[in-house]
Amino acid sequence: MRHKAWMSTIAYYVGLAALLTLPLHAGWLAWVPVILAIQLVGGLTISVGYHRLFCHGAYRASPFWHRLFAGLGVFFMYGSPLQWAVTHAAHHKHSDTDLDPHNKGARALLTKSYKNVPLELWRARRLLRTEKRLHQLVDGWYVPLWFGLFFTMLLISPTFVVMAYLPALGVAHLVGGLHNALSHDSNGARDLWFMELLAPAGGEWLHGTHHKKPGRYDLRTRWYHIDPGATVINWIRK
Ligand SMILES: [Zn+2]
Ligand SMILES: [Zn+2]
Repeated sequence: MRHKAWMSTIAYYVGLAALLTLPLHAGWLAWVPVILAIQLVGGLTISVGYHRLFCHGAYRASPFWHRLFAGLGVFFMYGSPLQWAVTHAAHHKHSDTDLDPHNKGARALLTKSYKNVPLELWRARRLLRTEKRLHQLVDGWYVPLWFGLFFTMLLISPTFVVMAYLPALGVAHLVGGLHNALSHDSNGARDLWFMELLAPAGGEWLHGTHHKKPGRYDLRTRWYHIDPGATVINWIRK
């Protein structure tokens, strides 16, 4: 397994550049709803797929959902599910210490690379118990898979790539950076439920509850909590 966080960093910077220059293109406003819709799918891919299914095994889903979330993870350049699960498991074990691989504060908004990530496959043991061949394939072929997808999209519609795909990558990785920047403070992990309204992340803003009970698939503990990921999981779990 190789570490491919560099691809996420490129996606973030290129995506942000595409987002900031979007208003220079005629008719850009019509693409804003498309970008927002793609971002909602990105938040659910991380929260429902990568986080709660792949890393924590908080619910069971058919191979179709494993394939779909792994494919969407390549589309969004989130890194392979194996890489993500290894990094996130290390975050749980070492959160709020110097060994925590997640960047915090402003640094989380500057880079997508992770600190001190021990690339130990055993950390992804839950993931490797399910759909092992699929996840090893996506991990080994992550870079060519992304290039194949990207050039296919370019051939079909360069306009979609420039006006929707790249700006949506920028938004998706910006929301991820914001989440890392804000979800832990000096007291540890915290719930910022209202952030789901400002920067939709599939329910991930209930991060304090998640650290207390990582195996739970529904992160809501108050009636006003917002967890769209839990609603999707109720549809797809078996
Ligand atoms: Zn955390
Ligand atoms: Zn977690």
